[in-house]
Amino acid sequence: MKNLKSEIRELIKGEIRFDEPMSAHTSLKTGGPVEIMAFPEDPVSLKNILTAAEKENIPVFIFGGGTNLLAGDGKIEGIAVSLRAFRSIELTRETEENNAVLYVGAGVPLALLVNLARKNGYSGIEALAGIPGHIGGAVYMNAGSFGAEIRDVVVSVAIMNMHGEISVLEKDKLCFSYRSANLPEGSVILSANFILKKDDPAEVEKRTREFLEKKKAAQPPGKFSAGCVFKNPAGHAAGRLIDAAGCKGMRAGDMEVSAMHANYFINKGKATCRDFIELMETVKAKVREYSGIELESEVKIIGGIID
Ligand SMILES: Cc1cc2nc3c(=O)[nH]c(=O)nc-3n(C[C@H](O)[C@H](O)[C@H](O)COP(=O)(O)OP(=O)(O)OC[C@H]3O[C@@H](n4cnc5c(N)ncnc54)[C@H](O)[C@@H]3O)c2cc1C
Repeated sequence: MKNLKSEIRELIKGEIRFDEPMSAHTSLKTGGPVEIMAFPEDPVSLKNILTAAEKENIPVFIFGGGTNLLAGDGKIEGIAVSLRAFRSIELTRETEENNAVLYVGAGVPLALLVNLARKNGYSGIEALAGIPGHIGGAVYMNAGSFGAEIRDVVVSVAIMNMHGEISVLEKDKLCFSYRSANLPEGSVILSANFILKKDDPAEVEKRTREFLEKKKAAQPPGKFSAGCVFKNPAGHAAGRLIDAAGCKGMRAGDMEVSAMHANYFINKGKATCRDFIELMETVKAKVREYSGIELESEVKIIGGIID
């Protein structure tokens, strides 16, 4: 790691930070300092980071908006890579079937794509309005809402592996499932192509606004969270199970089960990753006791939980 720390500035075009707190990059506002944080500005820089890390056996993790991430409280070893500079968004073509095909970089905020679709009357992602984070994260997580998922509109995804090799996976080679894209291990999403249906802009605008209002009404506004903590078990809503098990308002340190939507944990100020894990375990045990159902985490964990 010592070698890489001194050499990394020569390997990449883009910002490098040392001992940068992950708490500044996660919506939950938890996370200790990461040894190296890199913001490569092009695929060659990304390749240089990945291959150097692979050679020295240094862990690498990718983050987007950090809106589905729980980062450990202690020092986080390795390199955190943000693709926020991969922000191209282009209309590739319009098809005879009245579709619009868009190329979108991994660092584009999902909200920007939703907004562009709304303005241009491109239909298909209205229900994703209000989901924070970037395109890379949305594809990796197969983000979804109100029965729609990002997979519904994906045509293909460009990925880079840990050796810096780029490949394009067409939709039929992708194995999307609930809140997962199931990509080959170590894949870094560079971009995705989406297909949207051309529609009346006023209609798309109306539907987008309606979904956004529905979402705002259902989730705790402006609070520090990582969205839904648990996946919905088949046939159940995790939030309802947690509520029925009597967990609303429960706390571990400064982490609280939201009184508004029980599947959200809210950082009330100084909560730690440890608080989050403790609360998760308590809630899981309560739900298991109440319903016999085992909840599974939706949030991704990076870094050690114990310092
Ligand atoms: C208030 C709030 C509401 C939310 N509502 C919803 C909702 O309705 N539906 C929903 O599905 N989610 C929701 N979420 C969760 C979250 O916003 C989504 O999962 C989002 O798509 C994550 O994107 P991100 O860029 O923040 O990913 P991050 O949190 O940064 O990362 C998530 C995972 O993706 C991986 N990843 C990120 N970028 C890349 C890349 N380029 N290549 C490879 N791997 C990558 C990371 O390593 C990590 O494992 C909500 C979150 C919040 C805070």
